[in-house]
Amino acid sequence: MNTIISVKDLYKTYGELEAVKGISFDVYEGEIFGLLGPNGAGKSTTLEIIETLRQKTSGEVTVDGLNLDTSSEDIKKIIGVQLQSSGYYPGLNLTELITLFGGLYNRPADARELLGLVNLQDKAKAKFKELSGGQKQRFSIATTLINQPRIIFLDEPTTGLDPQARRNLWDLIRDIRNKGTTVIITTHYMDEAEVLCDRVAIIDSGKLVAINTPGRLIDDLLETGFERKKEVKSANLEDVFIQLTGKEWRDE
Ligand code: ADP
Ligand code: MG
Repeated sequence: MNTIISVKDLYKTYGELEAVKGISFDVYEGEIFGLLGPNGAGKSTTLEIIETLRQKTSGEVTVDGLNLDTSSEDIKKIIGVQLQSSGYYPGLNLTELITLFGGLYNRPADARELLGLVNLQDKAKAKFKELSGGQKQRFSIATTLINQPRIIFLDEPTTGLDPQARRNLWDLIRDIRNKGTTVIITTHYMDEAEVLCDRVAIIDSGKLVAINTPGRLIDDLLETGFERKKEVKSANLEDVFIQLTGKEWRDE
């Protein structure tokens, strides 16, 4: 396994607050890597440091062999980052936004192709604010791909989406990974991390408390003698919901 991101003993303080307290982990090339943890755990801070958007306090970060301290401009060229929605100039439609971002990256972007990839070809002339929640997320994922990055970072891409839109986004994320892009994602949904992520790191109060495949972490817990209190049915309410309302997307 090839390490594409290496984080060693990362610290970040905001004034008095120690948000990240000595985190170390590696991300392997071609995997979907999940960063899990409660609100305020330090997930976004960690991601934004790797993305070169935030200064670390100390520690060492390497992205595809490039040292963050000396090569942040080169790192920017090989990563894809979701832009804040405030960057989606309200007057421009999706095609114009992608063309604009392509210009910012100095990398002419094929808006038709990118919108097709995230199934928004019919929305080429729509404004960002006219999209549904799932469509907004898909567009924002498309913008991470403009510079044909080796790694993309997705911070809570499925928060607030309905079950159909969430599953649809999982497929999209898997497609992107299957084409060779490494994906780092944060999420609060453990069912999502379990089916989507090859490996997960769990962060709590700025410290890494576990890192492994979801299957291995579950087996480790079971080996301690852990048992669920209730007998678990082999379906859950989400299965009922999907069964009754269908798998097709509803936000078109
Ligand atoms: P997460 O993404 O896991 O919810 P964050 O990385 O956003 O966590 O935040 C970690 C901690 O750092 C939180 O206590 C948060 O309030 C604090 N924090 C985040 N950004 C800033 C900032 N720009 N200034 C001060 N404190 C911040
Ligand atoms: Mg966050």
